[in-house]
Amino acid sequence: MLIQYIIGPAGSGKTTLIKSLVEYLQEYNQEISVVTINLDPGCRTLPYTPDIDIQDYVTVDAVMEKTGLGPNGAMIAATDLMVNYVEDLKYEINQYNDPEIILVDTPGQMELFSFRNSGPMIANALGFGSVKRGIIFTYDSTMCIHPNGFISTLLLAASVQFRFANLSQINLLTKKDLIHKEKLENILKWVDDEYELASATENLEHGMLRELTLSLGRTFREFGAISELLPISAKYGEGIEDVWGAIQRVVNDDTSPY
Ligand code: GDP
Ligand code: MG
Repeated sequence: MLIQYIIGPAGSGKTTLIKSLVEYLQEYNQEISVVTINLDPGCRTLPYTPDIDIQDYVTVDAVMEKTGLGPNGAMIAATDLMVNYVEDLKYEINQYNDPEIILVDTPGQMELFSFRNSGPMIANALGFGSVKRGIIFTYDSTMCIHPNGFISTLLLAASVQFRFANLSQINLLTKKDLIHKEKLENILKWVDDEYELASATENLEHGMLRELTLSLGRTFREFGAISELLPISAKYGEGIEDVWGAIQRVVNDDTSPY
């Protein structure tokens, strides 16, 4: 069993990706058993029907009503409260017959899940027995058009890597249909070649920011944090087979940590 947590900035397409992955599997790969879990306590509607939904246990609306907190405070409280239901989630997972893949949708605002304690705690608690765990990080292509936006998303991806230490990470460049082909190619070049990122920063940025961008790019490359970035459009179902291929590689990789 592999549990894949989908993590990324708000609106970067995590939920739409799950919808698209599930549709792809239904169409092309029906032998593989997949279970979806929604861990976003604040989404009123979802474009797919999760098999397991944290909102059966805790919702932002209920927390607001009970505590009088506003939407932001209630979102934080509801995300923290999710850890109380880990045993229920495990019980529900066990009702399925050892599924091969579990796709986990996480709260829109990634910092609530990744940088507070609840996310890593839930990820640890669900990693029982020989369950493998991994992360899919969604880079929003509209935020990565400029080198500084690209680098700041990279910083987020790297901090998620720190928070969920040792988990494999698949990096996706989402919403590719929303940016021009040349821009997309630029971003992919920045990933492949540090000189491309350096020359882009030369054109676009100056002074301290440029120096910072360059040295961060260099550091990430040295630590292997800049790795393959798969461009996809979950909305139009493009590149989804590549995501599936990357998930399969994690499943079959015996060196990947449990
Ligand atoms: P989340 O907050 O990361 O779960 O993001 P969502 O999946 O809810 O997506 C946020 C918005 O971006 C929604 O309006 C989606 O329809 C839209 N979106 C997601 N993926 C794509 C895509 O591949 N292309 C386009 N054009 N829009 C997308
Ligand atoms: Mg979402």
